[in-house]
Amino acid sequence: DRLVVAVDGTSGSGKSSTCRGVASRLGLRYLDTGAMFRAMTWWMLAQGVDVHDAAAVAARCEEPVIESGTDPTGPTITVDGTDVAAAIRTDEVTGSVSPVSTVPEVRARLLALQRAIIGADVEPAGIVVEGRDIGSVVVPDAPVKLYLTADAAARASRRAAEQGAVDVAATEQLLLSRDQIDSGRATAPLVMADGAVHVDTTGYTLDEVIELVVGMVDR
Ligand code: C5P
Repeated sequence: DRLVVAVDGTSGSGKSSTCRGVASRLGLRYLDTGAMFRAMTWWMLAQGVDVHDAAAVAARCEEPVIESGTDPTGPTITVDGTDVAAAIRTDEVTGSVSPVSTVPEVRARLLALQRAIIGADVEPAGIVVEGRDIGSVVVPDAPVKLYLTADAAARASRRAAEQGAVDVAATEQLLLSRDQIDSGRATAPLVMADGAVHVDTTGYTLDEVIELVVGMVDR
């Protein structure tokens, strides 16, 4: 059977670094589904679509060609062939991604893409998948499910340090407002999936969290 490690959790809980580290260590592929929602959002903004107009977003969401590379040492994301890895990390995209992600048509389109990547007939078959609804919706039968969280203050200072941002308070506000929208939406809200193990990463180093997860998968 295909090994799928499903990792969900709040914004800034260390999901991406943890998942990449675990996939590298175990020789698995890595899929960042958040990058796909960000790519969709980047495209909507580039097209001048009002991201708060769900009908407008739904009407256009089949158009962009979104492709994800799953090498954990160098994941890639393109839209219509253009590398958007940096463009999807701007504050503008980060501030617009949660409303775009509430639109059911967007979720249905990306769900199909995600399942195709996860089930692709390539080596290695195993994959670490991170997002908000992986254990609950995308791969509910995943043999390993994790739910990562961390204190808001810890998440904000980590994220601000990564981005060289000075305003930790504003970073914390943005993380909390994304959590609120992601947890409150009707379709595929962020929840702790059935069978998921909750790991609070506050106070642990990245290496410690990777070690813990590798141990869970290896058992
Ligand atoms: O993981 P990341 O912070 O890059 O995700 C960006 C946004 O994409 C999240 O805040 C959420 O709104 C959306 N998302 C989602 N479902 C996923 C992954 C991400 O709704 N599986």
